[in-house]
Amino acid sequence: MEKIVSLCKRRGFIFQSSEIYGGLNGAWDYGPLGVELKRNLKNCWWRVMVHERDDVVGMDGAILTHPEVLKASGHVEGFSDPMVDCRLTGKRFRADQIPLQSGMVYSFRLVRDAIPPPESFQILAHIAAPYMTAGKKVSTDDAVEIGLLISDRHNLGLEVPTRDPKSVEDFFLNLGDSLKKLPDASIASLGDDFATSYAVSNRTLPQSQAFRVLVQRGETEAKARKVAQSFYRKRLKLPVLVGPFNPTACNDTREFNPENGAELTPPRAFNLMLETHLGAVADEASKVYLRPETAQSIFVQFKNILEVSRKKLPFGIAQIGKAFRNEINPRNFTFRSREFEQMELEYFCRAEQGMDLLEYWKEERLKFYENIGIPRDKLHVLTVPDDERAFYSKGTYDIEYDFPFGRQELEGVAYRTDYDLSQHQKASGKSLEYFDEETKQRFVPHVVEPSAGVDRTVLALICEAYSEDQAPDEKAKMETRIVLRFHPRVAPVKCGVFPLLKNNSQLVAKAKEIVSLLRPHMTVFYDESGAIGRRYRRQDEIGTPFGVTVDFETLGEKDAARRNTVTLRDRDSMKQERVAIQDLPAILRDRLA
Ligand code: ATP
Repeated sequence: MEKIVSLCKRRGFIFQSSEIYGGLNGAWDYGPLGVELKRNLKNCWWRVMVHERDDVVGMDGAILTHPEVLKASGHVEGFSDPMVDCRLTGKRFRADQIPLQSGMVYSFRLVRDAIPPPESFQILAHIAAPYMTAGKKVSTDDAVEIGLLISDRHNLGLEVPTRDPKSVEDFFLNLGDSLKKLPDASIASLGDDFATSYAVSNRTLPQSQAFRVLVQRGETEAKARKVAQSFYRKRLKLPVLVGPFNPTACNDTREFNPENGAELTPPRAFNLMLETHLGAVADEASKVYLRPETAQSIFVQFKNILEVSRKKLPFGIAQIGKAFRNEINPRNFTFRSREFEQMELEYFCRAEQGMDLLEYWKEERLKFYENIGIPRDKLHVLTVPDDERAFYSKGTYDIEYDFPFGRQELEGVAYRTDYDLSQHQKASGKSLEYFDEETKQRFVPHVVEPSAGVDRTVLALICEAYSEDQAPDEKAKMETRIVLRFHPRVAPVKCGVFPLLKNNSQLVAKAKEIVSLLRPHMTVFYDESGAIGRRYRRQDEIGTPFGVTVDFETLGEKDAARRNTVTLRDRDSMKQERVAIQDLPAILRDRLA
């Protein structure tokens, strides 16, 4: 994956957003090639889902969304992820994304501090004077001895502690408490100081609270102790631990941080919506949301679009646009971002058609991915189990792809029943019913939704295209070649055009003529600098499927029959063929289709 991320930056596909200011987590900027790739993908989707169909129309809704829309849809109340925090590092995870782990769980508890911290020791020494010299470093034994001397001198009746750290700690806590109660005001106040400085931060941690660490196979108890020690050290100066007690075997748990074994907090709901305010006053009344999905604007405009398009069921409304989610843990490059684009179709139908259309759209969408160069064997259909599906959905498939970081969702295809339209009808008081002219029935349509992520698909295209092979360099020595094997349909640049030499005006003029010939049909990149092999290599690395080279034969210098022919090189096979310039547009258009 690192190689892919670095290529994306080096060649201008994807940059971190606000990079010169340290980056904005979860936001990405697409560079000159990235934007072409993204645009090609969106165009392919739009062509297949809208232009090539009679039963789908498009729309482009606002990102700023009225709060009532998202209240009715259930997002304000329920659009949340269960979130857990690592108790040691504070790192936040989505509870359902923690991998299942097994091992031994060790628990540790804190004995607050068997040795008084330096401040309290100074007070101790002061009270105990002349037995001690202030500032002298003492062992636990020394400290207990002084404490006992003080106890005797003031008749506090404290018992000699055992060697158990807990008993030592109790001894010092009792010492502080007893001193505070003495009638001698000066000692009582010193006792007060002692108790406070001895016990300071102890009070912030309930003593009974244990800290648990999961130790997986191959790890040791010492590791668990170290993790627990770091946890308590964040809270106390000199934590003394007891434990581990009750080591227990644990299978398939998600309660521990997979990175360090520290226990996680119980899951809490975390609303993913981003909000902003309209107008000059940032109060509750001016609050609007940045839409968390494009779908809701389609539902809210259902009636208007139905009227203007005069479509009959089943029919769909498609939209491509930005969506925003305050993801707890943006990661895996652009895979999980906070700002991303969706390509969504809401396909309205009668209730009885819902389940069949769910199957139909799943198959259509699989075909789509194959047509843009993602092979079927890298795609997987997950039937979302009943207990993980949205409560209103009667069936949901996730289309997943084998990313280098694991199998992950590219698209969800869900039968959402009539939930959304019914909710908006109820909340707005406006009818969102469909009237069937033939049967004279009036009803709220059901809907099947294929919802794909632009950024995730772009990432899948790049991951799928990335490859390394061996190719000869200038001196015919084999070297590693990085090549993005994009399907020509989505490749950012379709054809490179190269004059063999840049200082030959005839070659340059001819090459520029070819650029003008091809440009109305496709994206072309003209490159005259460097050795020809290097120029091919640069295009291979950005996935340009074809390269046209203008050489001396093109000028007809050797063989008049070859005048106005060029070499056409194929990126993947690296094979070259001789073709007439006038045939180039047709040949290339054919291969790009
Ligand atoms: P996930 O479980 O991965 O968070 P989701 O099931 O919440 O995804 P949906 O609400 O079904 O996602 O959104 C539809 C599509 O939008 C997803 O399949 C994905 O391609 C895209 N998408 C959703 N969230 C993100 C994100 N944070 N970053 C990039 N794309 C996203």
